[in-house]
Amino acid sequence: MDNIIKCRPIMDEIQAIFLKNDDWITTLPRKFNIGISGSLSNRCNIFGQDFALALAQKEGIYGFNLYLGGRVGFLAQDADMFVLPSQATAVFVAVASLFKTYGFRDNRNKNRLKFLIDAVGMAEFRDAIEKQLGFAMPSSGETLCASEGGDHYGKIALNDGSFALYAAVPSGVFSGSDLSDAAEVAASANGALRFTIEQNLIITGVRDETNALSSPLFVKYPNRPSPYMANLIACAGTEHCPFGVIPNKPDAIEMGEYLARVVPIQDAKIRLYWSACIKGCGIHGAGDLGFVGCKVPHNGKTVLGVDIFMGGTLSGEGGEGHLLLKGIILEEAKEYIAELMVQYRDHRIGKESLEKFITRLKVRYTNHAIGFVMRWNRLMRLENNVDAMLSFNLKKQGGSHREQDEIFEFGTQIIHGVTGENPYDTDEPLAEEKKSYRHKAPELAEYASILEKMVEPNPLKRSVVFTEIVVELKKLASEQ
Ligand code: SF4
Repeated sequence: MDNIIKCRPIMDEIQAIFLKNDDWITTLPRKFNIGISGSLSNRCNIFGQDFALALAQKEGIYGFNLYLGGRVGFLAQDADMFVLPSQATAVFVAVASLFKTYGFRDNRNKNRLKFLIDAVGMAEFRDAIEKQLGFAMPSSGETLCASEGGDHYGKIALNDGSFALYAAVPSGVFSGSDLSDAAEVAASANGALRFTIEQNLIITGVRDETNALSSPLFVKYPNRPSPYMANLIACAGTEHCPFGVIPNKPDAIEMGEYLARVVPIQDAKIRLYWSACIKGCGIHGAGDLGFVGCKVPHNGKTVLGVDIFMGGTLSGEGGEGHLLLKGIILEEAKEYIAELMVQYRDHRIGKESLEKFITRLKVRYTNHAIGFVMRWNRLMRLENNVDAMLSFNLKKQGGSHREQDEIFEFGTQIIHGVTGENPYDTDEPLAEEKKSYRHKAPELAEYASILEKMVEPNPLKRSVVFTEIVVELKKLASEQ
């Protein structure tokens, strides 16, 4: 219902140009991903495509803004061009022809459209599109992509009065007989079977919802899954890809199931995107939380792990996530994420999505601080069984984004939580005598020197960055 422009006819028109056409088959320098979104929601990672037409409005007319040069890790750039639906195919042909003629072919790592645009500049490339078209194009309008992206679970009302039913396919693992079941449900509804970029299924044209939902398909692939499973992406992983570092698909499912058990949440949108190696086919940078397989040194051995990214966005003009935690042992990653989910559950406003929650969180805290809360809380809950958890304070507006301030705030919070007292009675710790709380918090004796350094009255002697505290925590763990 949030679709403004019907894109299927445009897609069909574009496909007809290159399908079974020798002029186009294998003639492009390399892959050329196309996205067209006529919706207020970004359901196809539109800014991650080489050629992207995103819903826009200019002078009261709906059309598309053209974005070019997206690839894993890089969002497509605004080409400053407003395209009417009737012009979409011609603009596609112009851009694809330029890529075919001028795209780099000598270096596989540099032959996506992005590199051609980087070399000539977007303004010049835009001029070349106009020359190909033979007429001038207007500058861009207002991109309309403010709503949440990703799949909707449950049912979606369609314009013809029927419904589209969603089926969650964890990590996209699906067999041939499952496909037959899905096709049967679609055929009996006189509808169609669609695949989403979040590796789920949608069956359109459904009028008898109860009957459709009673099919074996929806027993195996639920229509209303846990939010941790609803928007899950996982690339091929070691089982099917030679580049894979971790199995990936089973790891993503295991984390989703663990989170559903340990931190159940209702009515949430949580996008967990997994890539088994740095090539990033699981578009980890676009996820609320992204995972990339890696190897981690641990107790003299090398074990499987993940780098964890946070803060990819699909709304607005999209945004890439940034590194949150590096080299986390794969088996423990779910426990770290569970700690962030506890914070999300406890601090979300209404039915706030994880994307919006993280956006709010990042206004207040650095990624280092957020990662530290996850690390510390996991350590206290699972390895020490001590109730000395940290909690984000999102009532306070803004944040200094100085790690030293955040360290002091967290040290104070931990000490207060355990002893019932602040380390200092005023905001001027230097003016006060340093208190000793060690005898009041024997359960934290092991961590006393770390905590004391976190709240050291003299800022010159206080811990400056979270990395140094993490090094101390790791040292303590290896001494055990
Ligand atoms: S991200 Fe790496 S492991 Fe996953 S499909 Fe791509 S190349 Fe293969």
